Amino acid sequence: MNKHKPINVTKTMLPDINEYFDTLQRVWETGQLSNNGTLVQNLQNKLKEYLGLDNIDLVANGTLALQLAIKALKVEGEVITTPFSYVATTNALLWENCKPIFVDIEEETFNIDANKIEQSITEDTTAILATHVFGHPCNVERIDEIAKKHGLKVIYDAAHAFGVKYNDRSLLSYGDISILSFHATKLFHTGEGGAVVSTESKLIDLVNLLKRFGHNGEDEYLCCGTNAKMSELHAAMGLSVLPLVKSSIAQRKKISDRYDEKFKHMPIATRAVDVGVEYNYSYYPVTFESESTMMSVYSCLKERAVYPRRYFYPSLNLLPYLEDFSACPKSESISSRVLCLPMSHQLSEEEVDYIIDGIKIGLKL
Ligand SMILES: *Cc1c(COP(=O)(O)O)cnc(C)c1O
Repeated sequence: MNKHKPINVTKTMLPDINEYFDTLQRVWETGQLSNNGTLVQNLQNKLKEYLGLDNIDLVANGTLALQLAIKALKVEGEVITTPFSYVATTNALLWENCKPIFVDIEEETFNIDANKIEQSITEDTTAILATHVFGHPCNVERIDEIAKKHGLKVIYDAAHAFGVKYNDRSLLSYGDISILSFHATKLFHTGEGGAVVSTESKLIDLVNLLKRFGHNGEDEYLCCGTNAKMSELHAAMGLSVLPLVKSSIAQRKKISDRYDEKFKHMPIATRAVDVGVEYNYSYYPVTFESESTMMSVYSCLKERAVYPRRYFYPSLNLLPYLEDFSACPKSESISSRVLCLPMSHQLSEEEVDYIIDGIKIGLKL
């Protein structure tokens, strides 16, 4: 019945293997595989230029980037955060001995509801950790205002926001620190990897020290750091992938437009791009009227070897290992009804139509 190869939620963008070999050749020439080698430095400079940023530090993955951000900003106690994100957002807080305080999301944007943050601030609150969900900006102005008023740090989990601009500047330049993930499933990747970004160079210097054990020079041990360095082999992948990102975004936009067009007259809610945003088309989330409708579509697609993902499910306030229970009805509702549809640089129009046919069958249209 199914003539297609399996269609997954995303497909890792691999560079031409010869191109990759050429880049790797440079590692063999120097014989240096880690510790801020020339490829990591080179990638760092290219990313600064691509993203329009002054300070960026490359690290081993996005989760460690979050932990380094928390450490560098000396965040402790209670942290206001979102229940609608990947589990790493909450886990990073727990690993750094912070208490996540979940504030519900806006149904339309999937992002933390900035207007509900203030009522959750206590004497123990030190920071806000919010995710730009699927690369769509949080209400950064309102969050900034609240943070200033209450003396809180702001960290953005921008794992989905590579290349996104808001008001003509990088979305990563908002807040005290933003983090990126370069995991193989992300728009731009290094296999495994990540970055910490800040407009304050001192913070990035501290992150840089913390990611290499707090070890400076030959015999200085300045603080209790960890190991979160990116290797040259990962940087080589990044250097080969970066030139492909622009065309990937253009391709994804075409796919997104095709989905949009087909869903116009179907009982499916899509996520529009907000005013002032230059989007990266990293994800294509859709929400259905109920969990049972979503499940019916989900199983229908799986029968056709189409594998969307329940991003994000469960709502993070429901994680079984949390100390207390708090209710976030909007996040719980959205997470029970949402699916991220396949989206990648390589999806063909025919495949998109095949996916849409599957959805129609699931919806009994
Ligand atoms: C992928 C992702 C992370 C984790 O990044 P890793 O590089 O896999 O550690 C964190 N937050 C969000 C929102 C993500 O999607």
